[in-house]
Amino acid sequence: MNQSPTNHGDARLDPGLYIVATPIGNLGDLSPRAAGILARADVIAVEDSRVTAKLLNHIGTKRRMIPYHDHSADHVRADLIARLATQAVALVSDAGTPLISDPGYKLVRDARAAGHPIVTIPGPCAAIAALTLAGLPTDRFLFAGFLPPKDKAKADAIAELGAIRATLILYESGPRLHATLTALHAGLGDRDAAVTREISKSYEEAVGGTLSVLAARYADAPPRGEIVIVVAPPGAAPPPEADTVDALLRDAVARLPMAKAANAVAKATGLDKRELYARALALRGSVE
Ligand code: SAM
Repeated sequence: MNQSPTNHGDARLDPGLYIVATPIGNLGDLSPRAAGILARADVIAVEDSRVTAKLLNHIGTKRRMIPYHDHSADHVRADLIARLATQAVALVSDAGTPLISDPGYKLVRDARAAGHPIVTIPGPCAAIAALTLAGLPTDRFLFAGFLPPKDKAKADAIAELGAIRATLILYESGPRLHATLTALHAGLGDRDAAVTREISKSYEEAVGGTLSVLAARYADAPPRGEIVIVVAPPGAAPPPEADTVDALLRDAVARLPMAKAANAVAKATGLDKRELYARALALRGSVE
């Protein structure tokens, strides 16, 4: 494993932007590398200085903090960018990985445009932690952050997500959980899902079930704490109609040798390539 050129024990940090992931609940999840960067940064761009002060206290250090949000006045970001020429600027959010439903994107964008070095110090992220707990497919997933709170906008956003063949990961708050599970059920059907809560804290839990079962479970009392909803991808796509398969085969045979055409259609549809080859032969026979 390589050691970063910017991370030599107690040495002064090279100037640049350091994106530092911090715990999402359990302070023990702060990596030694993240702690080392925070202890040596010239300045830390923070969401809330009270929250970050507690973290710095935990590692026994005090640093200058500058409040930063992507909607901060332009001069705040311009000041941070100017500092990058000579200073090590760390970026943290209140919890987890900066930029993930948190401030930082515009700062990284502008730092990159100005040609400053940018280093990321990876660590906790509630979305990924929830995915590992949910017991749902992990090979393709889509992180959709927070859905809009208003009913119509939420339903529209869910309709857009409906066709995506991937596990969905959503952030949500306890008071809105029931409404969101109900809207997900209405828009996506009764897919399998999991509600993960308070990850890495004492009351961590992951409750699995279909969306209707989960909506019923949380109907009466909103759960406390921080929540990630994970929803299974849609079921397997229905097999294509025979006419569609024939059209695909005719098109492929016009461009490719018979075996390659059958292979290409098999890949596109998931159908058996020998059966497709036989069908392609039959189609050719019927036009000769
Ligand atoms: N940047 C953070 C990250 O990397 O996960 C996310 C910040 S976002 C403003 C906060 C949301 O993340 C919460 O409302 C909740 O949905 C989720 N979250 C954060 N910590 C969590 C935890 N310990 N357990 C479950 N969800 C959590």
